[in-house]
Amino acid sequence: MSFQFSIENFINYLLGCRCLICNKKISSIDLEQLICNQCLQLLPKFSRQVENACRICALPIVKELTICKYCENGELEYLDKTLAGYIYDFPVRNLILKLKSTPNRAIAKFLITELLNSIIDLPSYSVENINQIIPMPIHDNRLSLRGFNQSIVLAKLLAKQTGIPVNINLVNKIKDNGVQEGRTRKQRFQNIKNSFNVSANCQNQNYILIDDVMTTGASINELARVLKKQGANSCNALVVCRAVL
Ligand SMILES: [Zn+2]
Ligand SMILES: [Zn+2]
Repeated sequence: MSFQFSIENFINYLLGCRCLICNKKISSIDLEQLICNQCLQLLPKFSRQVENACRICALPIVKELTICKYCENGELEYLDKTLAGYIYDFPVRNLILKLKSTPNRAIAKFLITELLNSIIDLPSYSVENINQIIPMPIHDNRLSLRGFNQSIVLAKLLAKQTGIPVNINLVNKIKDNGVQEGRTRKQRFQNIKNSFNVSANCQNQNYILIDDVMTTGASINELARVLKKQGANSCNALVVCRAVL
């Protein structure tokens, strides 16, 4: 057994770096590693777990179909396509919850890097012609409660890694809808209606809309609707996690 002395090793030893998910000590000398190799293997990667998904909203569907029953009914008609990094499940769910409770840049960086790694080879992935990244806005009431918007943290890191600028001022959340959890699908769509305000013209712009979790897609579709109303050409959703209902 060899022991390689390094400053990183020493700092790790002092800090006692632990896996964010299972809390086991991480032996790696890589200070950026937040998750042990075992937990890393457990991450429910979308591309690994889903054989076929709706090309509009990324809901898993049978092989023979190209779009899901909801998109067939035009429920998410303002979205052009959705790409997801993970299924919203253990243990990635725990990381999202941690990210929501504290503006942890390391977790955000980990999620964005892994997200890009898992979608970059997909034929439907392209950032060509994308003008701006728009994070999902939150209402001022929620912002003052939480202190930050996790989608902005994710958007800024995505901007850094893709070179596409992020615009955090284009859309405001003007209605405080409370939490969507516990509401039916229909209620979520009704509740989110007319919640956003767009402050500039979006003529011919192509956007990536980023959010941490997509459940029914009601919020992100409404965001796409108001942008297209102002002239946007396309709105592609990029989500860290896709909830499978
Ligand atoms: Zn672990
Ligand atoms: Zn769909």
